[in-house]
Amino acid sequence: MNINNNINNFRQKVPHSCTLVAVSKTQPNEKILEAYDAGHRTFGENKVQELVQKHAALPKDIEWHMIGHLQTNKVKLIVPVVSLIHGVDSTRLLEEINKQARKMNTTVNCLLQVFIAKEDTKFGFSFDELTALFSSGQMENWTNVRVVGLMGMATLTEDREQIRQEFRGLKRFFDSLKERSLPPNARMKELSMGMSGDYEIAIEEGSTMIRIGTAIFGSRNYPEG
Ligand SMILES: *Cc1c(COP(=O)(O)O)cnc(C)c1O
Repeated sequence: MNINNNINNFRQKVPHSCTLVAVSKTQPNEKILEAYDAGHRTFGENKVQELVQKHAALPKDIEWHMIGHLQTNKVKLIVPVVSLIHGVDSTRLLEEINKQARKMNTTVNCLLQVFIAKEDTKFGFSFDELTALFSSGQMENWTNVRVVGLMGMATLTEDREQIRQEFRGLKRFFDSLKERSLPPNARMKELSMGMSGDYEIAIEEGSTMIRIGTAIFGSRNYPEG
């Protein structure tokens, strides 16, 4: 893989309104530095330990995004080093992020993960749960959390039309929330959807953030736990 070329190709084909998150999980630091040297600064990881280690070892102007499922007991490790958490999928996690952020006197940017796939393996809120959360008055208590949008993963399927409908449904929900009055610490700015296999569809359906691993770095060498 020529990482420099891949980064530049994405720069050309992705609209300016859409942020490219280079998903560097399992990739060694040298490969991340190749993307860095091509001018890229936004990287995504899905394991807390790995993100923390890479943050310590690599240039400090990198923005690290946590993209995978986050366990509550790892929150305190991630808060000091992360610029955006994509996969916030429960009120328990919001509560813990708020607690740790408050202790560290900081505010953490979060995307709420919405369950849109027809699979039972993916994490996330349902549309109804999120609607209820925003009208519950609960969000207002989490003053050290800043919700900046939503994240979703489509079903892993060859059926492009199904993927499109799932992304479209999420975009419609995102837009409907924009119309409502949300808690002061929640706004609908970013919509994180699209990976190597489905980012073209995601962009067509209104993604503002795509998370791309293999299409930049090539295949991952060891299995993800
Ligand atoms: C690994 C991962 C990606 C990137 O997947 P690719 O298919 O390699 O682009 C995107 N989002 C999440 C949540 C991931 O875990």
